Amino acid sequence: MLEVHDLTVRFGGITALDGVGFDVGRGEMVGLIGPNGAGKTTLFNCLTRRYDADSGTVTYEGRDLTAVPPHAIAELGIARTFQNLGLFPRLSVRDNVLVGAHHRGRAGFLSAGLRLPGVRREERALHADADAVLDRLGLTGVSGHLATGLPFGTLKRVELARALIGRPRLLLLDEPVNGLSASEVDEFAGTLGAIRSEYDLTVIVVEHHMGFVMGICERIVCLDFGRKIAEGPPGEVQRDPGVIEAYLGTA
Ligand code: ATP
Repeated sequence: MLEVHDLTVRFGGITALDGVGFDVGRGEMVGLIGPNGAGKTTLFNCLTRRYDADSGTVTYEGRDLTAVPPHAIAELGIARTFQNLGLFPRLSVRDNVLVGAHHRGRAGFLSAGLRLPGVRREERALHADADAVLDRLGLTGVSGHLATGLPFGTLKRVELARALIGRPRLLLLDEPVNGLSASEVDEFAGTLGAIRSEYDLTVIVVEHHMGFVMGICERIVCLDFGRKIAEGPPGEVQRDPGVIEAYLGTA
């Protein structure tokens, strides 16, 4: 589904990604790990066309992503969440979720309050989808609340709901369990495992929580200083001396 080849991104003197390459097959759940500053979020920013790569290629479902304008990424079925929640504090939970459907034609605009004639049916379908996603993620009871003042774990689920309403095929999760309690992490892992098949998702997860990422992913890619230093099944990557050294400073 996704082929990343020899990707390099520089910010002035910093090489954030240095010739990174890996593939992701349809239906896989891949964990992207690495110490702070390793280049994980930069990789997501390239996949979503937030940043341009200096060199290398990204092919998604056979299409060269570097030729796709940023606004068209969601239409291709790619959605992401953000490390620091990217919610709109003055919108309700429901409206925050509907923002994730902006690319679903005129119905998306209508739901966002822009009155256009003749799209009532699509708009009803969109609201039915919003109801289903809110219900699936246990957010129905707070759908009318502003997206401030709610528990952090709830806001993380709102972000996930906003990504899901866009009907993605490839879901990019940036530190989805960062800041959650141990029981919330377990709950999130259970939910993600279930929605993955319900929504027919391929998932890449950036995460520092090793128990979570190693438990839920079939394959792990580890970056360090912008380079891929290991790739393989969780057990193998966890034992890799290079990975241990990157995290602990000693093998
Ligand atoms: P963390 O786990 O701390 O979130 P990360 O692996 O996601 O780290 P990135 O955020 O991708 O790492 O950063 C990789 C490197 O690129 C870092 O040195 C960072 O300071 C730098 N960097 C990232 N974005 C920018 C930017 N917009 N401008 C300048 N430097 C940047």
